Amino acid sequence: MDWADELAERVRDAGPQVVNDSKTPSGTVHVGSLRGPVILDAITRALRANGIATTLLYGVDDMDPMDAQALLTPDAVETEMGRPLFQVPDQEDDGHASYARHHAQTFIDTFAGLGIHPDRYYWMSDIYPTGDMDPFIRAALDKAALVREIYRRVANVQHPDTWHPLSVVCENCGRVGTTIVTDWDGERVRYECRPALVEWAKGCGHEGWVSPFGGRAKLPWNLEWAAQWSLFGVTIEPNGKDLATAGGSRDRSDAIAREVFEREPPLNVPYEFLNIGGKKMSTSKGRGAAAHEIAEVVPPEQLRFLFLRHRPNHAIDFDPDGTDQIPRLFDEFDKFAAATAGREVRGDLPPGYEATFRYSLLDPEADVATEAAAFRPAFGHLAMLIQIPEVNVVERVEVEKGSPLTDRERAILDERAVAARAWLEAYAPESARLTVQHDIVPPAAAELNEDQRAFLASLADRAEGDPPTSGDAWQAMIFDTANEASLPGKRAFEAIYRAFLGRTNGPRAGWLLASLDPVFVRERAREASGWTQAGGKPGPLPVGG
Ligand SMILES: [Zn+2]
Ligand SMILES: [Zn+2]
Repeated sequence: MDWADELAERVRDAGPQVVNDSKTPSGTVHVGSLRGPVILDAITRALRANGIATTLLYGVDDMDPMDAQALLTPDAVETEMGRPLFQVPDQEDDGHASYARHHAQTFIDTFAGLGIHPDRYYWMSDIYPTGDMDPFIRAALDKAALVREIYRRVANVQHPDTWHPLSVVCENCGRVGTTIVTDWDGERVRYECRPALVEWAKGCGHEGWVSPFGGRAKLPWNLEWAAQWSLFGVTIEPNGKDLATAGGSRDRSDAIAREVFEREPPLNVPYEFLNIGGKKMSTSKGRGAAAHEIAEVVPPEQLRFLFLRHRPNHAIDFDPDGTDQIPRLFDEFDKFAAATAGREVRGDLPPGYEATFRYSLLDPEADVATEAAAFRPAFGHLAMLIQIPEVNVVERVEVEKGSPLTDRERAILDERAVAARAWLEAYAPESARLTVQHDIVPPAAAELNEDQRAFLASLADRAEGDPPTSGDAWQAMIFDTANEASLPGKRAFEAIYRAFLGRTNGPRAGWLLASLDPVFVRERAREASGWTQAGGKPGPLPVGG
């Protein structure tokens, strides 16, 4: 990901940088909405790595009106729709001061879990009462005609000539989503709380004149956004492509920043979405695409990597349900780590892979060389090991590594084992779940063809004496044995699955055999082959029932 370092190069002589993002705290955080925060954090790390003083800000837009009926209890819909989020009571009885605080906490916790620690969180419900927004409210009201003209020119949105860019918190009913300002005398605004202004909330009909300052009103989103840029001196603000369309939210706010608040808007780094494949994501096995649910299966460094291994302008398709995408994500991460450590890897690597690995690490201060060199058990292999009751996973992994694990490697193993269990439970395809048939030769072995039996017999012979210890070595032996007998690899694997698992598919066969006691592997292969040590001819297959 050389793009973040390229960005640092662009702003190198522009002085200290302020990176900003903000979010409305309503509802659950979808995993896709983590792409922005991860990009922001990577930019911040890249700027700092390039010696540029950088502040990372994150705003909570909790003056926004409650507009999601589905997220309220039925009796709260009537009273709460249209009120500022920071004044809506928490719908769950778990100690938060408001609905906004509850949902903001979810994403603050999620960010922290991903190693994202903004220098400051700001809450718009705290900012407005300080009066800091008042100059922007005044400018917006004084230039209301210009704002209307900008909406018309940039977005083709036509507001009536009496429309003013402000929403008053109704003094009678407390709603902010239902009010419209129709006049401004330089100190006070005239507003109406209209029953039918929006469909999702019903205003009370109150009207009057009020001072718009000190938290009694809020700017509409496009103006509030541009005001945040001025107030906090924002220099870089990436946003999702949904806001970056022609005439869209970003264009409007850019124009308002320039023409109303007279400041150049921040640099944009537009980013594409993460598409979660398959509608079943939301329902099957009770798993959704909520960030905290994905985070139970994908540890923070792999989740950061998911977002950072593609440039921001590339859409990411992520379909973990019933696929091997999560194991492949780990494999890809391990490949970047190996390459960063200077080891040879198979396949291509994108330019800037070292930076991608570095910025995927949880701890920005981590020693990249040590992290890259750490031994990481392949996720798919681990997912299999943990399903075989008699396997001592740590011992097994140490044999693969060839030496004892360091404390850090042990921590990586433990984290992956937890992730693999969660993956098996929540997302894994059936073929990844297995039960080794220890006691009897499975009935499925009765359907082995002669050439498959011969293959199993040769495999048993080869494993005599000094059997392989690693999954890779077993895999190589399987291929060699199959090649010698001119048996296609696919049929060789099928023979192993039938003999050991009692079915026709399964995880990587080399890993499977490496996980098992070599004596058992040898005996079972021989037994299933129908060959006897003494006989040398296929005999009747001893099949249990
Ligand atoms: Zn709560
Ligand atoms: Zn009202």
